[in-house]
Amino acid sequence: MLFEELTASAKSLGASDAAIIAASEIPVEDHLADFCRKNPGCENYRLSMSCPPHVSGPAGFRKLQREFSHGLVFSFTVPEEVLLSERRPEIFQKLHETGAQIEALAKGLGFSDARAFAGGSCRRIFCPDQKDCRVLKKGERCRYPDSARPSMSGFGIDVSALMKRAGISMEWMGQPGEDNGMKMGTVCGLVLICSDS
Ligand code: SF4
Repeated sequence: MLFEELTASAKSLGASDAAIIAASEIPVEDHLADFCRKNPGCENYRLSMSCPPHVSGPAGFRKLQREFSHGLVFSFTVPEEVLLSERRPEIFQKLHETGAQIEALAKGLGFSDARAFAGGSCRRIFCPDQKDCRVLKKGERCRYPDSARPSMSGFGIDVSALMKRAGISMEWMGQPGEDNGMKMGTVCGLVLICSDS
């Protein structure tokens, strides 16, 4: 019942879809986390407390999978032309903010350890005009504690397999939309929940 409430809340926050899966079902691949560092590498590597090598990576996430019972997967499906435009950071900002809001709602429902993950580096989304990440540079609190969350990429989470396992429909960038309609793309986030908390 509480899970249904959470998925309904995710949708009321604007998510296109939301579903719960067992935490053990979240697909994690070491080589996917390596892409942050090389081939092709990410321009934000090392630049944020929420990005590699400052996060615990696939090994750390597998530990979390043993500690948490479930994951709430939520998605936003948006026109491809928006994802490829200067509005792209806006979409990823919404992804981070929604994850943080679902995390807060889950805590309010008694899942006190709820923990959200998003997509895209918070450095680029929230602090592009800042000289540095305040947590890394000064050991101070994140500038956006109620919004910014770590990216799933740094933990090696296979996002497309995750959506498939959650039964969430995914639109691939570059593919024609349904009935040859507008091309769409899907981005997703994750909130870990422990039903024993
Ligand atoms: S201060 Fe900025 S770059 Fe650092 S963790 Fe927070 S949002 Fe990310």
